[in-house]
Amino acid sequence: MKTEITGRERGWLERAKEYILSGEVVAFHTETVYGLGANALSDEAVQKIFALKGRPADNPLIAHVHQDFDISTLVDEVPPYAEKLREAFLPGPLTMVFPSKGKVSRFVSCGLDTLAIRVPSSPTAQAFLKEVNLPIAAPSANRSKHVSPVTARHVYEEFAGDIPLIIDGGACSGGIESTVLDCTGEMPLILRAGLVTQEMIAKVVGACGIYERKEGEKPKSPGMAYKHYAPVCKTAYFKVGELEQAKALYIQEESAGGTAYFLAESNVVKLLADYKTLDLGGTGEQMAQRLYAQLRKGEKLATLLIGIEPTAQGGVMDGVLNRMTRAFGRNTNET
Ligand code: AMP
Ligand code: MG
Repeated sequence: MKTEITGRERGWLERAKEYILSGEVVAFHTETVYGLGANALSDEAVQKIFALKGRPADNPLIAHVHQDFDISTLVDEVPPYAEKLREAFLPGPLTMVFPSKGKVSRFVSCGLDTLAIRVPSSPTAQAFLKEVNLPIAAPSANRSKHVSPVTARHVYEEFAGDIPLIIDGGACSGGIESTVLDCTGEMPLILRAGLVTQEMIAKVVGACGIYERKEGEKPKSPGMAYKHYAPVCKTAYFKVGELEQAKALYIQEESAGGTAYFLAESNVVKLLADYKTLDLGGTGEQMAQRLYAQLRKGEKLATLLIGIEPTAQGGVMDGVLNRMTRAFGRNTNET
């Protein structure tokens, strides 16, 4: 199959719609990362996503809809706090989980009785979703466990020949996946940290918790149980206080004929003038925006990519640090 990248040329919407209606999978730009979308109402189309990604069958997908879509056709019991959050943050990088009406394919939620809904703000995504006027099930457009894509080129490198169309809306401004928020309880609970932060949510509705899985409990957000976002090269992860150890590992790799790179925030990059580095920037927003692009660059350039954990915490950094820990594999015994 030939894979076309469309930058919204004439006729792109009609073509995208045709593919979706005929059960194909189409990649599309959003403000967070690129998505791999299919008709959420079709079992066959949704199953294609799992096959393409090699995604575990218990890792549910998010249903993407346009901003005028009536979500009461898909989910029940939208609590008043969720209405407030919709007003405040949608369209935008916030996914909300509600009790499902069971209207979408059972493969979307992987047996859960809930459905995750997202209304992306990307004008390209909005135009596409309006044209099809269907819920589009879409995970990030990467092979399972690999780094998420933030440009159309990233998607092409991974799925060329496997999908007919990539809708190019440029580089993703957000850079990390949406905040996933459980809206089935008295109070919203963050299942996955992202650009809409706990503080931002609490400011609008008074309180917002962070989900912590209890011993033996089935995870509320199964996707978070997997190792993810991992570059294909070797990796190591150190704190700023362990910089000497990190340098020793770098030198060892280079002496053995390999190529080492550091991935670090700007302040740390300044301390590494004699080493090859990839700069994440200084603010939380910059780090979110650059992280995946730099990880993908790093895996091409390096045989060993050494991450240095950024020092800032809270806010957007919750999401950035979570992705970095999982990409570099520290403190995780997940597969
Ligand atoms: P991805 O789009 O690849 O980032 O994956 C979507 C993520 O959203 C999954 O890994 C889950 O963690 C989360 N998710 C999707 N649907 C649900 C749901 N019904 N309940 C809880 N979490 C969900
Ligand atoms: Mg993903």
